[in-house]
Amino acid sequence: MKITKKNSPNHFNGRCGWKADMIVFHQTGNTSLSKSLSWYLNKAAECSPNYLIDINGDVYQLVAPENAAWCNGTATDPKDPKYYGYSLSDIVKSRKTNCNYYSYSAEFVHCSRGDITEAQKAAAVELIKTVIVPHMRANGVTPKIDRKHIIGHSEVSPLTRDPERYNCPGKLFPYDEIISRVLGEEVDPDSAYEPVQYIYRAVSTAAVRAGMSKSAKIYSRVTKGDYYPVDRIYTINGEKWLRHAGTEEYSMLVDGGALFQRAAAYSTKRTTCKINIRTSPGLKGGINDTLPAKTIVYMWGGEPPVLIDGYHWVKLVYEGKVVYAASEYLK
Ligand SMILES: [Zn+2]
Repeated sequence: MKITKKNSPNHFNGRCGWKADMIVFHQTGNTSLSKSLSWYLNKAAECSPNYLIDINGDVYQLVAPENAAWCNGTATDPKDPKYYGYSLSDIVKSRKTNCNYYSYSAEFVHCSRGDITEAQKAAAVELIKTVIVPHMRANGVTPKIDRKHIIGHSEVSPLTRDPERYNCPGKLFPYDEIISRVLGEEVDPDSAYEPVQYIYRAVSTAAVRAGMSKSAKIYSRVTKGDYYPVDRIYTINGEKWLRHAGTEEYSMLVDGGALFQRAAAYSTKRTTCKINIRTSPGLKGGINDTLPAKTIVYMWGGEPPVLIDGYHWVKLVYEGKVVYAASEYLK
């Protein structure tokens, strides 16, 4: 989705060791996008959400999701009206710390009683699916899309829980509709993957398929003991699938027992000219193959190059096997 990025100073860098797993919704005090933006970007406001959603559905990121925005903070002192103990959320009460640390916050431009526009609803659903859920997964958090983890500011703090005057984000706010639309569309595989850069070793002869289903066409089978670079791990209907790096080919990661075991991280490189890859480091290593210039190769992580015959040799995975190449010819 298209997100316009701005930089509000009103946040903590990082999340004080927490990983965000909740979403807190708000409405802006201002009735227009321009007034809201100038307020949240102003240091004197000491307040900003991670995301701001305009009436027409345009989305602005004001604080990056890895940082705790100052939007629905709670206090640890019972004398403070923002004390976490006054929250209506059991999670907020049990964590006994600032709610900003573990929540993503999103404000809707003036929605009065919480009756946001269809464009705002659709934007919120897409924001959760394509930005927040992948961000959670990348942090190792299993997203829980439910009413315990998706709440309103008024449920965090009594300061915004005045039904007569100001209730944030409003009594009519469509939590359940947003949640069911996210869940209904979450089967879209692109919303359910974690980007990775791992080499996996096959411990079986798992099928390589055209899709992530046991009925998808089989292209080939992996060779037991061989190595496979993986660039995405999907969780679909409770099954885990891997995508073979740089392809649209998939294998099941676990089926009863593990079909693959993670061997190492990798980084991708390109050959800068035609090069020989060898079965052991050094010019005396047997030539395994010759690669043309600009071939993408997968370099084994965590192993420093070894200097032999005047070249720095690094370990690569090529067509399932471990090979070596002179790093002088990789970029
Ligand atoms: Zn609020």
